[in-house]
Amino acid sequence: MKIHEYLELDAQAATISCSECGEVLCDADQNYKEHSSMRTGPVTDAGPLFQPPERVLGSDPGYEFREWFCPGCGVLFDHRFALEGDRIIHDIEIDVEALES
Ligand SMILES: [Zn+2]
Repeated sequence: MKIHEYLELDAQAATISCSECGEVLCDADQNYKEHSSMRTGPVTDAGPLFQPPERVLGSDPGYEFREWFCPGCGVLFDHRFALEGDRIIHDIEIDVEALES
């Protein structure tokens, strides 16, 4: 079952894997992002349209740009802005009990 552009849920094994290379990332009830390769960089890494926060806001509260990749094939799963030190958002939560029924 496809749960994201590059993520596959195996309901039998209750695991999440990469749909590009088949790499098993984690159990279905875990946060796949914590099992992906994460790269963090300045906001300007997001692209040429993004200016340094201090230029837009007057100061930089500590924003960073985060990207999550498959550790097997390197496909980009997701990216978002966050404050340094923010926990990694668990944005795809699977109801594991619903899988078993
Ligand atoms: Zn992969």
